[in-house]
Amino acid sequence: MIMVQMIAVMLTPILRSGRLTLLGLMLATGAAAEPRYSFDATPGKLPKTVVPTHYAIEFEPNLEGLTLAGAEVIDIEVREPTAQLVLNAVAMTLSAASIDNEAQSAVIALDAPAETATLTFPQPLAAGAHKLRIGFTAQINKFGRGLFSVDYPTDKGKKRMLASHFEPTDARRMFPCWDEPAFKASFALTVTVPRALTAVSNMPVAREEPVTPSLKQVAFAPTPKMSSYLVVLAVGEFERLTAQADGVTVGVVTTLGKREQGRFALDSAVNLLRYFNDYFGVKYPLPKLDLIALPGGFGGAMENWGGITFFESRLLFDPAANPASARRGIFTILAHEMAHQWFGNLVTMGWWDNIWLNEGFASWMQAKAAQRFYPQWQTWLNGSGAKQFAMDLDARRSAHPIQQPVANETEAMALFDGITYSKGQALIRMLEAYLGEGAFRDGIRRYMAAHAYGNATTADLWQALETAAGKPVGRIASTFTEQAGVPLVIAQAVCSGDEQRLVLRQERFNVRAPAPENGASPGASEGPRRWQVPVTAGPPRAVRPSATVLLDGQGEIAAGRCGEPIKLNLGDIGYYRVEYDAATRAALGKSLPLLAPADRVNLIADSWALVEAGRNEPQAYLELVEGLGNEDSRAVWERVIGTLTRLVWLARGRPERPALQAYVRTKLRPLFDRLGWDAAGRETGDGPLLRPRLIRVLGELGDEEILAEARRRYAAFLENPQSLRPELRETVTHLVGLTADRATYDSLIALARKSTITNERSRYYSAAASARDPALARETLALTLTDELPNTMIGSVIGTVASSGEQPALAWDFVRANFEALASKQSPFFRNTFVSNLMTNFSDAERAAELAAFAPAHATSGGRIIAARAEETIRIAADFKASALPAIAEWLKKRNGRD
Ligand SMILES: [Zn+2]
Repeated sequence: MIMVQMIAVMLTPILRSGRLTLLGLMLATGAAAEPRYSFDATPGKLPKTVVPTHYAIEFEPNLEGLTLAGAEVIDIEVREPTAQLVLNAVAMTLSAASIDNEAQSAVIALDAPAETATLTFPQPLAAGAHKLRIGFTAQINKFGRGLFSVDYPTDKGKKRMLASHFEPTDARRMFPCWDEPAFKASFALTVTVPRALTAVSNMPVAREEPVTPSLKQVAFAPTPKMSSYLVVLAVGEFERLTAQADGVTVGVVTTLGKREQGRFALDSAVNLLRYFNDYFGVKYPLPKLDLIALPGGFGGAMENWGGITFFESRLLFDPAANPASARRGIFTILAHEMAHQWFGNLVTMGWWDNIWLNEGFASWMQAKAAQRFYPQWQTWLNGSGAKQFAMDLDARRSAHPIQQPVANETEAMALFDGITYSKGQALIRMLEAYLGEGAFRDGIRRYMAAHAYGNATTADLWQALETAAGKPVGRIASTFTEQAGVPLVIAQAVCSGDEQRLVLRQERFNVRAPAPENGASPGASEGPRRWQVPVTAGPPRAVRPSATVLLDGQGEIAAGRCGEPIKLNLGDIGYYRVEYDAATRAALGKSLPLLAPADRVNLIADSWALVEAGRNEPQAYLELVEGLGNEDSRAVWERVIGTLTRLVWLARGRPERPALQAYVRTKLRPLFDRLGWDAAGRETGDGPLLRPRLIRVLGELGDEEILAEARRRYAAFLENPQSLRPELRETVTHLVGLTADRATYDSLIALARKSTITNERSRYYSAAASARDPALARETLALTLTDELPNTMIGSVIGTVASSGEQPALAWDFVRANFEALASKQSPFFRNTFVSNLMTNFSDAERAAELAAFAPAHATSGGRIIAARAEETIRIAADFKASALPAIAEWLKKRNGRD
């Protein structure tokens, strides 16, 4: 699965001002080494005395009334005689439950907080096979969980379609089931729908016949054994584009009129299917794979087996309306979800505490596949921000191990965060580099073959890799998966004769705010940490490491001739930070232009992280950036822009701000001037991506020339939409929105209302939401209480008001005053998490205290975890700006004197 926030992390190398904060779980220290998978020992809440083997489910959705009538017959295996069956069901009614052709009827008891149904029979069921029949009525939701409706505008008026989304724990909103990943079974779905509509599920249609003049019944072939969270159903006015790959029918399913925009995704899916068939050594086991484009409902993508769902603009590509670079995101997300068809769907984690296995692996494979098919995109280099983001979170008191106990649904949901995805991705990349590409792939093939159609734990993966590579994978990797934190490698150059060695030791790398006065201090009881770190080293210009050492506590590494610069973590592949002695640091700073772009990114990122940790002066970082000169790597600039704009953000309302803003403008403007508004001729490289990025940042920093040109181009666009190239549409619209007066604001809202294209509508609404004029911001906020915006857009529109305007308080006061009205239209997760995320737009300790006092954010254990992390984010920002901004202002004064 990719949630919308993770897309920003994984596809945008930059995290604007650190305000995009994904929030995770607190750590539990001292986890013992994890055992290999066993069904009986795997965590979960349902008793393991009864297991389902096959579900035959009939659904009849009522698209007008938004209810769902259902009946299911579940083949179950009773392992020990019992009179009670416990399975999952929530927000539904069960009309009847009986066993073995009504031999016995059950008394039904629903437990809403536990999300279970307990069926109690008069007599115990004997061990062995039985058939359980259940009738039920569920809801079709207006938010994107369980089965939900999506209303979308078309040229022929408003249309409604249905789709499902279950991960992690929402299959139980659509049908009663053993809704834990270890209970694998086959599923045969039958659905009765209006004859004009098309139904799509995991498997191909086996039978379709009319049942009334207006209704038809569609039966799908049974699935292989799989977990319940991977079932999918979509119903609507669809069209489909198909191709064949290795005997599998690959399809793109869209609403009417959009089929051709699926061409790029379809071609990519064909390539990826062949690539993965080979890589995993097991052929994709279903007869078809559909990519289903939803015009709303949820923002990300979900790997349902054989029927992957995507928010439409994550999948469809229209060359006339989308910039060419949009293909990068489409390919990457597609590769991620397709990798899950094996890693996650064919072999599934036993329990949500191992969700990193799914997500870390798919996140790694998305980059590996992009690198394989489009090396010119430099996906690892340009995606390096994701690792930095994970390391930032992982340096905190509220960091959590990527393998993490999960007690309930809210905690499982909270695990889909930057640490799970991006630390997992980085760890797998580091392991692959350490073991070698071939040995690593052989290990993955072993793992697939051994656990196909079953479940596994992290320990099973390490075991397969150890067998293939003959190296102690588990011993190394478990130090990264079973404990939180980032290793800091401290390097000291030592000379003997002409030979140089770096003496290495390790500590835990910490970026922490002072603990709040009152509360408990999570993490206070942590003992010292030790990692087994594969440390690499090489001279500038090195492509391969000249030395590698597995650092366990202390060690040393050969470092060429005395006084020569030597770079650790070559290629930015390792998950650790490095602190050099002063002389080595100076030598590296001087050789900056000689380093490969990935090493420049790594050095600059570590240098800034050390500032945040209080181990380096901000001035030293700024001097390093001064040394970049004619830097041309987008990835390097993205890191620098991220840091500098964060400083400007922190300086909001403080005396240091104008000088800081002017400095960042003078730093970036020459770079933009080299690129210009329009490319001269055909452009290669990253210019098409760096240009809109620089325009956006310079405009946000108040570059009047840029803002005036954006307004001019927008005016021309209103006259003739073709005049504004797809590459610049998002940026120009955003800047115009930011500085909008009443007339411009009205024009943006009018464009949004008129458009029938999903991502165009959201572009205009979010441009309007960017308006810094408080009166316009209030008007945007009021819109979120009407029926005008789709439910999925409400959170992001409020978030944009909070982050683009100068006054996040406006958004927060509005949310506080209208919380119940807003929450009533959203999924339960909104109630737990939205305010915590919103509050990270503040950088004042009092706001952390307000969040601590906001009851709904603390109502569930998952919510409390997310709130604690948000509070720490705010406190870190508050603490850092007080200590760093005055020193930076001093440095700027001196620098301006130098000019
Ligand atoms: Zn995923």
